Amino acid sequence: MDFPRRGVMLVLASPSGAGKSSITRTLFGQDPNIGLSVSVTTRARRTDEVEGKHYYFVDQATFHRMKDNDELLEWAQVHDNFYGTPRAKVEEQLTNGSDILFDIDYQGTLQLYEKCRKDMVTVFILPPSIQELRARLERRAQDSAGTIEKRLRNARIEMDHYAEYDYVIVNEDLEDSTQKVRSILAAARLKRDRISGMDSFVKDLQKQIDSL
Ligand code: GDP
Ligand code: ADP
Ligand code: 5GP
Repeated sequence: MDFPRRGVMLVLASPSGAGKSSITRTLFGQDPNIGLSVSVTTRARRTDEVEGKHYYFVDQATFHRMKDNDELLEWAQVHDNFYGTPRAKVEEQLTNGSDILFDIDYQGTLQLYEKCRKDMVTVFILPPSIQELRARLERRAQDSAGTIEKRLRNARIEMDHYAEYDYVIVNEDLEDSTQKVRSILAAARLKRDRISGMDSFVKDLQKQIDSL
C-alpha cells in the first residue's frame, strides 16, 4: 500500500574528497525517485562536469542578481566561490513526492534548517583517514596541488560541524556507505508527518473493528 507523501530533503555533506559525489552517483543509479538539487555556482566548470547536471555555472553578476531577487533558498561562499540552491524546483518536487538530494556545505545546511527543518534529513560523510583523503583528492586529478592543499585545510573546518548533522558515515567502502544512505532515506520516507491520508486510513480500520 502506498500513501501519498511529501518528498524528503536529503542533505549530504563532507569534506571535499570524502566521497559524497561518488555516493550520490551510486545512489542515483539505484533509485529513480530521488533527484539532485542542481546548484548555481561561480566556480569554473571541471572537465567532467555538465552544465545543468552538476551545476548551473554562472558569472558573479548573475549569481548576485539571483540572490537579490530571492531566487535562492540558501547561498554560501565556499573555497572562494559562491554557491546557491535555486528555490523554485525544490518546492515543486517536494509537493510531487519526489526526494531531493542536496550537496551543500554546512552554512547552507544551517540556512535550510531555519526554513525547512521538518522536510530534512542530514548526513555527514567522513574519510577513514587524512592519508586516504589526500590520496582520493589526488586520484580524482581534478584540482591543482594548491587547490588540494586548500581543500585539505578547509576539511578541518568542515569537520568542526559534523555534530550538527543527524547521521555520520565513515566512507571506507563505497557500496557499504551507499547502502547506509539508502537505509537512512528509507526510514525518512516512512516518517508519519510526511505521509498523508493516514488519519482516514486508521479511522477506517477502527470502523471495521466497530462493525465486528
Ligand atoms: P566537492 O567538495 O568536491 O564536492 O566540490 P564542489 O565544488 O562540488 O562543492 C563545493 C562546496 O560547495 C561543498 O562544500 C558543497 O557542499 C558546497 N555546495 C554545493 N552546492 C551548494 C549549494 O547549493 N548551497 C550551498 N550552501 N553549498 C553548496
Ligand atoms: P567529494 O564529492 O566528497 O569531493 P568524490 O566522490 O569526488 O568526493 O571522491 C573523491 C575521490 O575518492 C574520487 O576519485 C572517488 O572515486 C574516490 N572515492 C570515493 N569514495 C571512495 C571509497 N569508499 N573508496 C575509495 N575511493 C573512493
Ligand atoms: P566544489 O567546488 O568542489 O564543487 O564544491 C565545494 C563545496 O561547495 C562543496 O562542499 C559543496 O557541497 C558546496 N556547495 C556546492 N553547491 C552549493 C550550494 O548551492 N550551496 C552551498 N551552501 N554549498 C554548496
